[in-house]
Amino acid sequence: MDKKHPVVYFDHFASTPIDPRVLEVLTDSLVREFANADSSTHEYGLSANRSVQSARSQVCRLLNAPASTVFFFSSATEANNTVIQGIVAACSGTQHLVVSATEHVSVFQPVERLKNDGHTLTVIPCDADGKILTHLTPDFLRPETVLVSVSLANSEVGTLCDVRELALECRARGILFHTDATAVAGKYRIDVSSVPIDLLTFTSHKIYGPKGVGALYVRNADVARRIRPLLLGGGQERGLRSGTLPVPLIIGFAKACELCEYVMDDDCLRIGEMRDRLWQRIRSEVPDVILNGHPTERLYNNLNVSFLGVPSEAFMIKLRNVVAVSAGSACTSAKAEPSHVLRAMNVGHAGLESAIRFGLGRFNTMEEVEYVADHIRDAVAELRVHFGYTPTI
Ligand code: PMP
Repeated sequence: MDKKHPVVYFDHFASTPIDPRVLEVLTDSLVREFANADSSTHEYGLSANRSVQSARSQVCRLLNAPASTVFFFSSATEANNTVIQGIVAACSGTQHLVVSATEHVSVFQPVERLKNDGHTLTVIPCDADGKILTHLTPDFLRPETVLVSVSLANSEVGTLCDVRELALECRARGILFHTDATAVAGKYRIDVSSVPIDLLTFTSHKIYGPKGVGALYVRNADVARRIRPLLLGGGQERGLRSGTLPVPLIIGFAKACELCEYVMDDDCLRIGEMRDRLWQRIRSEVPDVILNGHPTERLYNNLNVSFLGVPSEAFMIKLRNVVAVSAGSACTSAKAEPSHVLRAMNVGHAGLESAIRFGLGRFNTMEEVEYVADHIRDAVAELRVHFGYTPTI
């Protein structure tokens, strides 16, 4: 390892480091708020409960949502599963679901299982930039469609999706509309009062909060009633998710949301500049690279690049003392299969096997960007010699 330089962390879509300001309230509440938030017979429990309710209001503010519309879960995965499996379980007979081709596995796998169980599934395709062809959706909707789930952005290639029209269409037909906002919440302003989103998921550890807690926004009690809970027990979270609440994690999550509100615009500018600089250097200094995802309508901190002729794994091993990156979603990185997102975009074999995702974050610096770019230039040149790839220019 370079003694002078620690490994630069550019894998913020997998997880983010905890913000020191979050850590402070988290450690304090680990000591102070130890009681069960459901213990209403003493002041310890009542205090924990008040902290949870105030945290709930703070998390709602990030979405411009009414105070009690957020429910706490252990993760976005659990919230996505609850929405998908719970809505179908609350209905009788065969149901129809619609999702986009670039959804996260925590959406894809539950719908695949429901399909295997006899329900029907339609997948909305995307174009070569990863843009979901949302205008096609009305043709896909049926009388038995119970849920449409399309995320606000894909975290692998960063392409954004404007879901407004789709959500309106669903509302007009009485179909529930869910969005996995895990890649977007805390980075861009989300206003559920102006877009008819019924259900929205996100998670604390992607916004510099602790792991182990996620949120599900549920528009109102009618929508909540249409979900059969996955976990049964003490009836916490108004029956939608039983289990003792992790009060300190919830307090930390709320602090992370509060910080996002304040620093969102600054993060966007600063991190966006670093991401642009990284791409500018790669593009000008490394031949035969392909940008995956939409060139402009993409998350400001995402850069997904295929270094043709250099297998993703070889890139990551060669540079593992320089930069922490990934080839795609961390949730699928244990599998050898190429990314379902890049495949849906019809990225060719050469691009598929050489894709690298850079996810920049709040504590990165321009100096780190220059340092990583210097190393990428040299490493890619060496790897291409090793793999016998001759650049075209
Ligand atoms: N959705 C997206 C887009 C994600 O990137 C992730 C995490 N990789 C999840 C959902 C699942 O979040 P969690 O880690 O909280 O289960």
